[in-house]
Amino acid sequence: MTTEAEYSADGDPVNPFPVDWLGDDEMVPELQRLHRLKAQAEAREAAVIARVHRRGVPHAQGFASPTAWLIAATGEAPAVCRSRVRVALALQHMDHTRQAFAAGELSECRVRLLVDARAGAPDLFRRDEPLLVEQARTLSARVFPKALSHWRRLADPDGARFDAEAAFLARRLHISPTWERTVRVDGDLDPESGQIVLTAIRSLAEPAALEPGDGRTPAQRRADALVEICRRHLDSADRPTQNGERPHVTLALSLADLAGDGLIDLETGPITAETARRLACDATITPITLDGAGQPQTAGDARRSIPPALRRALDLRDGGCTHPGCDIPARWCDAHHIIHWAHRGKTTLTNLRLLCRPHHRTAHHHQPYPRRQ
Ligand SMILES: [Zn+2]
Ligand SMILES: [Zn+2]
Repeated sequence: MTTEAEYSADGDPVNPFPVDWLGDDEMVPELQRLHRLKAQAEAREAAVIARVHRRGVPHAQGFASPTAWLIAATGEAPAVCRSRVRVALALQHMDHTRQAFAAGELSECRVRLLVDARAGAPDLFRRDEPLLVEQARTLSARVFPKALSHWRRLADPDGARFDAEAAFLARRLHISPTWERTVRVDGDLDPESGQIVLTAIRSLAEPAALEPGDGRTPAQRRADALVEICRRHLDSADRPTQNGERPHVTLALSLADLAGDGLIDLETGPITAETARRLACDATITPITLDGAGQPQTAGDARRSIPPALRRALDLRDGGCTHPGCDIPARWCDAHHIIHWAHRGKTTLTNLRLLCRPHHRTAHHHQPYPRRQ
């Protein structure tokens, strides 16, 4: 393998020559070399941050903290800078870790795990650091965190219990619309709660639960599973009602908008008229008349877009999702208008078919599927 000294002789150690010059069997050694270089650069960055802190540079320059100084110096996000400062300051007390990091033997990710492990039990960490650094060097990315938590449990049972309590207290869930017209779901759960969520999502997203040829990525399947679980909750009969209704999504829009091609605003961001039509296919509709200034004047009686008796007949006829090969039962299906009622389609058996949520989406956003016989 080529050594760094040989590369450095040419000047730039990161780009010593064009990537095209690499033979197929040289790719892996090159990646490993870059991986080491990256770790070395990160270790040096940590050393600079620690030195800056020890010299009191941030305060001398009027910054409230080393993190504020680093944000100004690098333009990185606050969370990134906070984590780097934390690692850099902890490394001052972690000789073995620091040396292995500087030699490019440990990635920043492994170093961060070691820093976390030390934070919980600094004295025990000092005693066992050589062993833990050796494990960080040799164990796989999957096994190493488990080895660390095993060490923690053995070395400090009370502390491990305290960690478990802290994990529970740290539980959080954020659901927020982003400017990219998506809704970000982000959070932390304690292990027990996490297992419940994971098991529920897996029951809908794992290969055994899927039909053959399902083209969704695993991440898409997990996302769909989470939404499906919430939808089934909203469907369930023992959930409290709101004004006698069990609303899923409330839309207020004109018939013209519903029949058109524009965007319609929800609390979480805009949706297309296509999506609004899918939601309205099988929904509770309340007709409202507006005055000239757009203020509501009168509200008619709320009614189902599919009357209950018709829905029972449809359930009996279709039995479940009518998409070929799909066997989602009727109770999880939407009733889909083949020609939408906003486009003057009739709410009659011949213009209706049952579709599960994913296939209802497909029906509205792609060509209709042939009917299952
Ligand atoms: Zn529909
Ligand atoms: Zn289906």
